[in-house]
Amino acid sequence: MAARKKASRDPSPFGRASLWIDNARDEAITLQAELVRRNAVGPLSGGPGELEKADFLEAWMVAQGFAPVRRLTSMDNGIQRPNLVSVLPGRDRSRCLWLMSHMDVVPPGDVSSWRSEPFVLRVEGDKLVGRGVEDNHQGIVSSLLAVKALIVNGVQPECDVGLLFVSDEESASLHGIRWLLDHHRDLFGPNDSFVVPDAGNEDGSQIEVAEKSILWLRLKTVGKQVHASTPHLGRNAMTAGAHLIVRLADLYSRFDARDPLFDPPSSTFEPTRHEASVQNVNTIPGDDVFYLDCRILPSVSVEAVQLAVREIAAEVARHNRVVVNVDIVQREDAAPSTPPSCDLVQRVIRSVRKVYNVDARPRGIGGGTVAAYLRRLGWPVVVWARQDGTAHRPNEYVWIPNLLGDAKVFASLTIGEVAPETSVIDVDANGPHDTTGGANGSSATSGSGA
Ligand SMILES: [Zn+2]
Repeated sequence: MAARKKASRDPSPFGRASLWIDNARDEAITLQAELVRRNAVGPLSGGPGELEKADFLEAWMVAQGFAPVRRLTSMDNGIQRPNLVSVLPGRDRSRCLWLMSHMDVVPPGDVSSWRSEPFVLRVEGDKLVGRGVEDNHQGIVSSLLAVKALIVNGVQPECDVGLLFVSDEESASLHGIRWLLDHHRDLFGPNDSFVVPDAGNEDGSQIEVAEKSILWLRLKTVGKQVHASTPHLGRNAMTAGAHLIVRLADLYSRFDARDPLFDPPSSTFEPTRHEASVQNVNTIPGDDVFYLDCRILPSVSVEAVQLAVREIAAEVARHNRVVVNVDIVQREDAAPSTPPSCDLVQRVIRSVRKVYNVDARPRGIGGGTVAAYLRRLGWPVVVWARQDGTAHRPNEYVWIPNLLGDAKVFASLTIGEVAPETSVIDVDANGPHDTTGGANGSSATSGSGA
């Protein structure tokens, strides 16, 4: 089904960009097909990395007349992990709105659960299926279409618009955004802000602005292993571990702060994995290992939770005559939240309403996305997309109307709310510049990437 042209043309810059995006359905499909067939599974997961995908994206952007593309490559044991940066200059050069997506994908997993080849795009009406189509090609394609809609319609954005396509998001971002922040911090200015289209919900109403801290603990109880017929000679580590699990529920009342931004609105402390111990029924286990997954509100001290766990463990150890070791498996302290009242969040809310007629709400999540690295350095970050959340699953899919709709949201965000005079963007070898004669002193802080 081809996109319908609107009966009445809206001559505003957003109206023109939006109409162009309505007609970009085929381009969206082609881009997805090209991205899907370039397997960009990271080396840590046994894949080739992002090089081929980055080559394609760079060539595509150059061919489409985008602003110069800068490639910044981190070396990972001899494998190139490229990051691409392209900044379209805006009327206000003192700040940049970044649209950040990642090029790497996770492996397909059990291929027999796929109804078609994971690395070949399948088109089913309005649905596109393939590894990476949502995570994170949706972000790549919708931001490319948004910027192309500005360029072909000669619309200059309100401020600089930065496209950032990073590597290594699916492992730890060591060669992606964290590497860029360590080695190329000058790309980013103090007034910049970020949209990360890498998570969302079905109607686009969720705007992620905050994350809980993550604390994973391994609790090992050591007793004394004996024959099950002589429990008085040993100390049952499993019984002690079970007591400990029950006692740890006290954490809920000890740390009962609430924050309605989050769902659930409180911290959570859940025992999860339990390691296998003795293989036979007639042995009393001498040790017992389980894990506790804590998701802690930003207002609650992770340190205090750790201390409380150790206190409870010591009591259980005393009472059951066992030793309890508490080890940290992972700790990621929540970054400061992006304030729901800030300009970026409010503009995303208005753009989502304009395009999708949906009232979006700022939300907190259980944690941890790449937004944390940026929020810790003081930048406002919104994680937003309209998608069903099929990332990492077999038969991962996206809806074409969401690809195009998200592109319109980004076009609306970047064009801004004060209708600009039409300006012509001329991209040449020296980088794009405004030919309308506006005073566009290039700012040292905007990091135009040229
Ligand atoms: Zn992702």
